[in-house]
Amino acid sequence: MMITLKETAEKLKAANKILITSHIQPDGDAIGSTLATMQILRNMGKTAQIFIDDTVRKNLHVLPHFEEIRRPSEDERFDADLLLILDTSPDRIGKVSKLTDAPILNIDHHVTNSGEGVELYREHEAAATCEIIFKLAKELDAEITADIATCLYTGIATDTGFFQFSNTRAETLKTAGELISCGVKPNFISEELEKRSVDEVRGMIIALNSTKVFFGGKVAGMFLNLATMKKFDSTEGFIDLIRVIDGVDVAFIISEREENICRVSMRSKGVDVSKIANSLGGGGHIRAAGCTLKTSLDDAQKILIAAIAKAINAENLPCEGVALADFEQ
Ligand code: 5GP
Ligand code: MN
Repeated sequence: MMITLKETAEKLKAANKILITSHIQPDGDAIGSTLATMQILRNMGKTAQIFIDDTVRKNLHVLPHFEEIRRPSEDERFDADLLLILDTSPDRIGKVSKLTDAPILNIDHHVTNSGEGVELYREHEAAATCEIIFKLAKELDAEITADIATCLYTGIATDTGFFQFSNTRAETLKTAGELISCGVKPNFISEELEKRSVDEVRGMIIALNSTKVFFGGKVAGMFLNLATMKKFDSTEGFIDLIRVIDGVDVAFIISEREENICRVSMRSKGVDVSKIANSLGGGGHIRAAGCTLKTSLDDAQKILIAAIAKAINAENLPCEGVALADFEQ
């Protein structure tokens, strides 16, 4: 059920012990929005604790209060009167759903979140959940400290590709501007987030070498098997290396996480990839979406290429990829 921002604020005011969470494979918006909200709620005198059921890439560990995020252990319970789920629908929070039976309040900007069975405040025009949390903080009359602003700015910056993607609105930049007035150091955040270990840069070379181009250059994909994936802390940013190829509309990465479990990430310049992801059991936004395919890497390629072919009306074109090294533009 959809609710308003005012109703969302009222529900938070009425709660005392709030368990905050976000999606597995957390990104800057997931971590930034949960950390900012935890601080806002604590400053209102409430008990607030973040649980996330996954590891978080090292670059985000610099965010204020990061060390307080907990990962749920097997059979753990947490005493809460509200479960606040940010930046995802409740199906992607892993074991956190077993920590409490408290009612769920959901805040999200994903268009694919329909709010089924929970109370959802959704603004799909918002570039990031952090943009919504900024509005919520105003609704709650909360002070935006430099630490809170740093977390919110990080989520907005990462979900907009540092203010480059089409989700960047005038309001996004106004919000970022206000956050800088509250004490954010934009260069600190971008320098921390772009940092890569030597091993990760070596991994990027392997990833680039795995690239294949499909449908005459409209689609490009990277293929990372289990052995290659063991070399990386994260594949964040890899997709941008091929998204930029002239003529490519849909870029994707398929990464094998466990045997017969492949993660798919997609980016597009035009095609609605959230529809493709949705058709494969995932979701996301028009220009950034993903899903998990429970098959081998080879089969995942076949399934994904068939779904993309349908979306770009290329069903009659050959679906074999051409290695980037052999592709003539
Ligand atoms: P990424 O490629 O960065 O992992 O994800 C791109 C966008 O798609 C993010 O907003 C992310 O939340 C969403 N997304 C990725 N994978 C899934 C999935 O399996 N299910 C849903 N519902 N959304 C996903
Ligand atoms: Mn987000």
